[in-house]
Amino acid sequence: SKKPYRWQRVLLKVSGEALAGDHTENIDPKITMAIAREVASVTRLGVEVAIVVGGGNIFRGASWAGCTGLDRSSADHIGMLATVMNAIFLQATMESIGIPTRVQTAFRMSEVAEPYIRRRAVRHLEKGRVVIFAAGTGNPFFTTDTAAALRCAEINAEVVLKATTVDGVYDADPKRNPNAHLLETVSYHEVTTRDLSVMDMTAITLCQENNIPGMERPPVSET
Ligand code: UDP
Repeated sequence: SKKPYRWQRVLLKVSGEALAGDHTENIDPKITMAIAREVASVTRLGVEVAIVVGGGNIFRGASWAGCTGLDRSSADHIGMLATVMNAIFLQATMESIGIPTRVQTAFRMSEVAEPYIRRRAVRHLEKGRVVIFAAGTGNPFFTTDTAAALRCAEINAEVVLKATTVDGVYDADPKRNPNAHLLETVSYHEVTTRDLSVMDMTAITLCQENNIPGMERPPVSET
């Protein structure tokens, strides 16, 4: 039978930056609500949505460690906790508009959220619940982009969709370089050889090894 939609199960990566919007605070509730509404409209079509949420709006381990000499593992633990804050906020927002949502954390915080259990996550998705994966991979020295690629592979999602603050992949940072050019499609090879900082290299290679397509804007061609 023909699939009604291009994808049945998607992994949405929501970066911390995206949640902050132009707000001076860490989270802009209007942005969070806009994301919740979009997710709601997709789940209503029967498409399963899992989310990996970032934490860069609150804390980035590598930059703190770099600036302050704070031990990187400790800094990254704080960074992962930041993603849990975003996840709980996003969950509360989604549930306020009636989307059943579960948060699963990569390390245990059982009073606050479920621990990550792959089969359970898949079951939630099958029941139409949105699953938010928090605390990244649970390991320091990784990023939530890598967590997105990892969870995507684990739950057999068909694509990683990245919600960030730019409208696509550019050949340079469009916020800094006015001549930056939007790339309609880009191969894994180009990302690594041209050093396009779309996602970090660990995430890109994980996607590549598992044939996971990624997208930062609406599709322009079937590739
Ligand atoms: N982090 C980590 N391991 C992971 C994912 C995240 O240590 O698997 C920490 C790391 O310190 C990172 C912070 O959590 O800086 C926030 O995640 P990230 O920077 O990926 O968030 P985003 O850029 O998407 O907002």
